[in-house]
Amino acid sequence: MPSVEGGAAVIAHSQSQFYYIKRKQDKELSGVKSRKYTRSANPIVCGTCGQPRDASLHKQYFGNWYCKSTQTETFEEWRENFKKMSCLLPQFHDHLLPNGSKVPRLGYTEEAREVLRLRKANPPSKTTCLFPAVVRQKAIEAVTKLGGDRNNELHVLGQHEIQFGAFSGKTFVWVLTNALGYAGFIVDKVVNIDKEKETETALSKKQSL
Ligand SMILES: [Zn+2]
Repeated sequence: MPSVEGGAAVIAHSQSQFYYIKRKQDKELSGVKSRKYTRSANPIVCGTCGQPRDASLHKQYFGNWYCKSTQTETFEEWRENFKKMSCLLPQFHDHLLPNGSKVPRLGYTEEAREVLRLRKANPPSKTTCLFPAVVRQKAIEAVTKLGGDRNNELHVLGQHEIQFGAFSGKTFVWVLTNALGYAGFIVDKVVNIDKEKETETALSKKQSL
């Protein structure tokens, strides 16, 4: 058995590639015709204007498309606005699967790793959690400061500061962008908190019997 770390990933990759090729061959042998990808026949269409996404009217910035036909802003204005918005709405990073499809990356970004490294080297002193109303008020103030919309619940929720754990003091939008899996873990905890309470009550009832 290979003992080199990472070797397993390489094998898994080539295995899935192998099965992909095998499936394709089996399909062809059984006479199933799958449409082959041809660029000229299927030009990539802009989701906004519905026209082929040609380079003279369409520009990309961090995976987001600017469409000159439908935008009232210039590309530069749009890009500046986009930068501002990236503090208000999460930016998801792609994780490429061996079969070529993309899923949101759940792991930590380099920025998140740096935060964890610094905290490990210099653990923060114990702090008390703020009251939910205070956290919310601070979030609304942050939205206004960032030029966001205080009536947009996504903007406001994104600016809520996490009160506990490895990323305490960071905003929820920061955690979504830099540690999506961890954000999922928190949401799961919150969603299932009542269930846990129920089980605890059931357990303590059992124990008292
Ligand atoms: Zn367009």
